[in-house]
Amino acid sequence: MKKIALVTGGGRGIGLGIASHLAEEGCDLVICGVREESAVAAALTALRDRGAEVLYCRADVSSSAGRSEMLEEIKAHYGRLNVLVNNAGVAPSVRTDILEADEASFDRLMAINLKGPYFLTQAVAKWMIEQQQSDAAYDACIINVSSISASVASPTRGDYCITKAGVGMATQLYAVRLGEFGIPVYEIRPGIIKTDMTAGVTEKYDRLIGEGGILVQARWGLPEDVGRAAAMLVRGDLAYSTGQVLMVDGGFTLQRL
Ligand code: NAP
Repeated sequence: MKKIALVTGGGRGIGLGIASHLAEEGCDLVICGVREESAVAAALTALRDRGAEVLYCRADVSSSAGRSEMLEEIKAHYGRLNVLVNNAGVAPSVRTDILEADEASFDRLMAINLKGPYFLTQAVAKWMIEQQQSDAAYDACIINVSSISASVASPTRGDYCITKAGVGMATQLYAVRLGEFGIPVYEIRPGIIKTDMTAGVTEKYDRLIGEGGILVQARWGLPEDVGRAAAMLVRGDLAYSTGQVLMVDGGFTLQRL
């Protein structure tokens, strides 16, 4: 039976890279995003061309009602779920020194990047436990997409860094709690990846990467780099490594001398 995978923010960028590789792994998909379905039509077609059945849910992960309506839709459509990829996330609209940054941006990022995946995982985990208890062959995993910002301090986007550090702890908490149910929880920490999120800072990162030193592998990361890592986890290649963090950062965070 094909696995069903929910990829939040799977309509573009890193999420689309992940969804594409999960489609190639033989998963059917649920893609969630905040835009209308017509705006992601090309991405959904590309995923279907890779052999996946695709359900699109327009849902805001920061909204409790949005999350539960999405899960009801998935239950009605597929009746089951094997994989949750918490990928949806936002950067601050404007990068601001932490001595000046306001609470509105902090609250927005906390709601979308941390509270959303934390409580979506809670709801999905309960459903996964039910499925596991009624089917001995049931196979599931949860993947959180955080960032190198979980451990690399950028004082012009402190709110973002704090949300990603929080996702790191959420990974550990759920890995511990779901261990007895055989549901591994992993975290992928991407580095500098070429997507709409980084489009506004292309010149800065082009320069930093070009000058050398910042990355060991001196190129932009691509959504498919993250997609391949996620596919490996969904395949079960790291089945005995729950709670682990997988760096997909071209060596950005390697300590060097
Ligand atoms: P992106 O191209 O801006 O895509 C973000 C995705 O998240 C979009 O699909 C968007 O939906 C969705 N989204 C945003 N707010 C949402 C909400 N409230 N509810 C549901 N979906 C929502 O960003 P990306 O670069 O692919 O980033 C994906 C993840 O990787 C994020 O968590 C980000 O923090 C993380 N990350 C990115 C980088 C990087 O360099 N790009 C590095 C490290 C980590 P719509 O398509 O409908 O707008």
